[in-house]
Amino acid sequence: MADYDVIVIGAGLGGLTAGALRASEGRRTLVLEQSGSIGGCCSTYEREGYRFDVGATILEIMRPFEILFQRLGTSLWEEVELEPCDPVYGIIFPDGSRLAYPASLEEKAEVISRISPEDGRAWLEYAHYVGDFMRKAVDSFFLGPVNGMPDMARIFLREPRLLKFLPLFARSFEEVMRRFFKDEKVLDSLSYPGKFCGLPPALAPGIFAFLSYAEHEGVYFPRGGMIALPEAVRRCGERFGMQLRRDARVEKVLVRGRRVEGVRLADGMEMTSTVVVSDVNARTLYLEMVGEEHLPWLPRYGIKSYRLSASAPMINVGLDRRPPLDAHHTLITESMEKMNEYWFRDMRKGLLPRETFGLVCFPTFSDPSMAPEGHHVLNIVQSGPYGVREIDWDRDKRAYGERQLERLSERAIPGLADHVTVMDVLTPRDYERRLLLPEGAILGLDMDLPSSAVFRPAARSKSIRGLYLCGASTHPGGGLPSVTASGIIAADLVGKYE
Ligand SMILES: Cc1cc2nc3c(=O)[nH]c(=O)nc-3n(C[C@H](O)[C@H](O)[C@H](O)COP(=O)(O)OP(=O)(O)OC[C@H]3O[C@@H](n4cnc5c(N)ncnc54)[C@H](O)[C@@H]3O)c2cc1C
Repeated sequence: MADYDVIVIGAGLGGLTAGALRASEGRRTLVLEQSGSIGGCCSTYEREGYRFDVGATILEIMRPFEILFQRLGTSLWEEVELEPCDPVYGIIFPDGSRLAYPASLEEKAEVISRISPEDGRAWLEYAHYVGDFMRKAVDSFFLGPVNGMPDMARIFLREPRLLKFLPLFARSFEEVMRRFFKDEKVLDSLSYPGKFCGLPPALAPGIFAFLSYAEHEGVYFPRGGMIALPEAVRRCGERFGMQLRRDARVEKVLVRGRRVEGVRLADGMEMTSTVVVSDVNARTLYLEMVGEEHLPWLPRYGIKSYRLSASAPMINVGLDRRPPLDAHHTLITESMEKMNEYWFRDMRKGLLPRETFGLVCFPTFSDPSMAPEGHHVLNIVQSGPYGVREIDWDRDKRAYGERQLERLSERAIPGLADHVTVMDVLTPRDYERRLLLPEGAILGLDMDLPSSAVFRPAARSKSIRGLYLCGASTHPGGGLPSVTASGIIAADLVGKYE
């Protein structure tokens, strides 16, 4: 008899979801995590009394989380203390002007109308259209497998009303936004969330247009930091007997005759199971852990053709004064043109952005316990390539962080640099070293249309029997709701086929 019914590689949110669900079905489940802590990109650490998040900064599109906890016999709201974020986000424009978008759709329409009455009206029309798409797509498309064309056909047969949204699949994010909105300032304010799929507006698929609406269905911050969510999944899984081993790096997936037999850890220990669920990057999984020699030529060629997603340097700071911000999230926006320009011109050449744009997250706005009394925390998420040419991420990270804080003080948050008591910069190299994300890819693989849905590595491996994928590099992609959905899909497929 095998040592376990299911072995999960990686205790990111996707892996924990799959592990907890299999354990809840009575399967002997072991989750192996290479680092000393769980959650991967959805985690929190402490430094000098401040609590900093590692990657993800908020929760939205709550349905996958709700379904997960329901299936674990409890409820999200019981297991995780969630603070609603309202305003959903603030914006600081390149000219220094500011606004904040309230959670209410109607109130947001009023704010937009003050800039452009025509776009204020368009906002409600847009919200209705993409909101409808989001609700239909989450249940039918996000939470179900798309392992091949028959699955895609089934999705549209089950939810034929999705067909009316085909234009979203055919257009880019930018094209969709420009169809609804005309004023450039309004467009700047609504377009930044498109970057959450790791691509510039001209490349991001039109289906991600719903991201600029999604917050209005609820955006939350877990008290105690983002780690509260994976901790809750772990706790629920362990109630059903799920085992978790930290500091256990899987080096090889053991395969014989195109069937999984178990895993080998870096220390040489082997464990057997006829089912292995992987939460690690699909390129690393197939090319290094399974090994090219076990792949037929077409999948071998296919997996090599995927591009890794972008990375995102993050600057975490503790402050001895409240920063002049009035929302949990503040977008330091740039025009869509500048965001495209950076991607196509500079990032590909290994350059850092010339303009200051990014996302400033203010956790102590929602949960003061994230810092010592009277102090505050900011997580600043920026753009920057793994293979940067101008600096060395390891050698120059402190100087990089200080320079960015000075630029933010000048452009958006006056006095910021003068009130920093602690600074910790997480670079693409840190993500690669600490979480084994190749090139620090925070969303696994690129999220463009040719790498989405049926074109993304399948949740049930087509090359190796007993091998399943969850996490950012399988359908539906990176981001917390998506990887949770991927864990649900992987657990269901294991239940169906094994
Ligand atoms: C800066 C940043 C900001 C983000 N902001 C948001 C946001 O606000 N909202 C949102 O929804 N998403 C956000 N994301 C994306 C989101 O955090 C990720 O897409 C998601 O957490 C990935 O989950 P995952 O399950 O794919 O795995 P990961 O989080 O990548 O975890 C994989 C786990 O596997 C472990 N592992 C790797 N290799 C091995 C091995 N060989 N053996 C054993 N264990 C291994 C790693 O240590 C890690 O714990 C952000 C990410 C970053 C980095």
